[in-house]
Amino acid sequence: MRCPFCHSENTRVIDSRESDEGETVRRRRACQDCDERYTTYERVELHLPQVVKSDGKRERFNEDKLRDGFSIALQKRPINAEQVENALQRLLRRFSFSGHDEINSVEIGEAVMAELRDLDEVAYVRFASVYRKFQDLDEFNDLVQRLREVLPDDASEEGKASLSLISGARKKEQN
Ligand SMILES: [Zn+2]
Repeated sequence: MRCPFCHSENTRVIDSRESDEGETVRRRRACQDCDERYTTYERVELHLPQVVKSDGKRERFNEDKLRDGFSIALQKRPINAEQVENALQRLLRRFSFSGHDEINSVEIGEAVMAELRDLDEVAYVRFASVYRKFQDLDEFNDLVQRLREVLPDDASEEGKASLSLISGARKKEQN
């Protein structure tokens, strides 16, 4: 897999371990050209249901929006990127293996709240207060947008970079 920094193909795996109860293989890689290190995740490809909005319209399941919801609610909380990713993957697996072709955006919001409640009390309260205040929001995307407005965008740049790197690495792996 190409180095995300210099695009060299000359990279090697320096550490490999299972995480997320064995559902994910996490690999630490080093680029032999530029010396940068990065992490990739390998996991089973999921087929996610279509999201049904309250007006009956369908849209593609947006995994990145779900990740955004988590990371905004968890700003400055002592939860690392891997814990967020594990929570996200648990949700995605549950949605994927539910046996349903469709899911309501309300169900997605409820499931995120349940996951956040286990992860971090403060993040859960943040998310739930926005969620309950804007119950007319029929799209999870609107909710994420609203969260962004309500919560100050002061997450550390480091935290953001590490989340987007995971996200970027995952997209590359899927290709
Ligand atoms: Zn490189």
